[in-house]
Amino acid sequence: MEKRVRFNEDHCKSCELCIGVCPKKIIRLRTELNRLGYHPAFVPDEDQEKCISCALCARMCPDAVIEVFRP
Ligand code: SF4
Ligand code: SF4
Repeated sequence: MEKRVRFNEDHCKSCELCIGVCPKKIIRLRTELNRLGYHPAFVPDEDQEKCISCALCARMCPDAVIEVFRP
């Protein structure tokens, strides 16, 4: 399955800004920690098709973690 939004999870700092701006409310934090010791943001595979590729999350992220693809 092709992803519409991809997170470079090892660079995420769990600031949750992306979660706040996503109009579809599909971004979550993992329970596991990344290499920096944060719970990284991600979009579950089953919710990828709900993403509308608006890229608001990518623009908001201070750490350039998120890549968005057009379907
Ligand atoms: S591109 Fe838009 S809809 Fe998709 S995860 Fe980011 S904010 Fe949500
Ligand atoms: S905005 Fe970026 S750093 Fe903040 S939680 Fe989202 S992906 Fe992680």
